[in-house]
Amino acid sequence: MSFPEEPLDLPPHQGGGYYPAAIHQRIHNGKYEIIRKLGYGPLSSTWLVLHESQNKLIYSALKIFTVAASEEAKETELPILKAMSDLRSFDLGLPIFRGSFWKQSNAGTHLCIVMNVMATSARALQREADHSRLPVHVVQTLVYAAANALAGLHKEKVMHGGIDADCIYLGMNMQTKHLKSMLDSEPQPTTVDVNGFTTVLSQPLSTEDKWNDKQKDVVDWDVQVGNLGHAQRRIYTPEKGHNYSFAPETLLERATCSPKTDIWMLGCLTYTLLTNTELFDGLGPTTHRIATMHAVLEDEVPNSWLSDGNMKEYTDAASDDFTSIEAGLALALHKDDVGPAVAFVKSCLRLDPQERLTAHECMDHGWLSMADACSCQFC
Ligand SMILES: [Zn+2]
Repeated sequence: MSFPEEPLDLPPHQGGGYYPAAIHQRIHNGKYEIIRKLGYGPLSSTWLVLHESQNKLIYSALKIFTVAASEEAKETELPILKAMSDLRSFDLGLPIFRGSFWKQSNAGTHLCIVMNVMATSARALQREADHSRLPVHVVQTLVYAAANALAGLHKEKVMHGGIDADCIYLGMNMQTKHLKSMLDSEPQPTTVDVNGFTTVLSQPLSTEDKWNDKQKDVVDWDVQVGNLGHAQRRIYTPEKGHNYSFAPETLLERATCSPKTDIWMLGCLTYTLLTNTELFDGLGPTTHRIATMHAVLEDEVPNSWLSDGNMKEYTDAASDDFTSIEAGLALALHKDDVGPAVAFVKSCLRLDPQERLTAHECMDHGWLSMADACSCQFC
């Protein structure tokens, strides 16, 4: 049987090396009590903890990195998180740093970071929606918040690098009394034994916000942007094995990335939240994929790319088998909403990174600022 949660049964060099935390375990000299498992990703697991802060009991998220990811996270994610937190990043909806420490397990040493708690992800919200497509006004609110967070990061020369439906969250009422009664009303954490290992099943927190809330409520949502695991500051080098929503500059032999790569990812995310389809895939040689982008986006390939090693024998001729942005959005949206959404997505998805909107320009873009003009069936 394959492991139902993070692979506690694998050693670090095979993608394991997770910390095997247990419910009600007290960690870091008893300071943090583990209450629930919120979830896990390829590099870490995240737990809801209860602890004292300024003479009050509060809930926080405890992110425990795998042994293999801990050193890297110490050099990149941790300093970026601290720096952004010092800048009152709660105004930007970015994670708030509350402490860090190291913890030993049989597998090795784990970096642990304490942060504020984030609840429902945009991905979870999307899964609940009809056809997994979110209404226009919901997408506008989520994308606006993401652009706002990116504006704050980019001002500090930080590239987020992981803008997708898993990094955008809805906040919730974190008042200790309120959250405690909510947790008490839900099923208690479940553990499962597999191959001699005991794992706790993930229980993400969910907000009362719903995908089909009306626009007047959605505009008040507390939207946050987390997951700084792919963030880089000042010097940007594409991470091996990370796809950046296939941003074309990352596909070249002389691959690059930058804060403008975030804008590409934001454009792809917007399209995906509206249509529940991915605009581009990772298939075929670079020349073929960039020719498809050229056709889908109706945008010219920068001349300087034509001498790149991965662009030998490039021609603009794409196969006929592609869906234009207009056609894709027309399938999902009311006809009155198609044009403005197309304009926004295309302005994010320019092949030449320099031509893409800045994060501030995204926030000022007509499609996001004229949020009244939603023709979805809910408004
Ligand atoms: Zn609407």
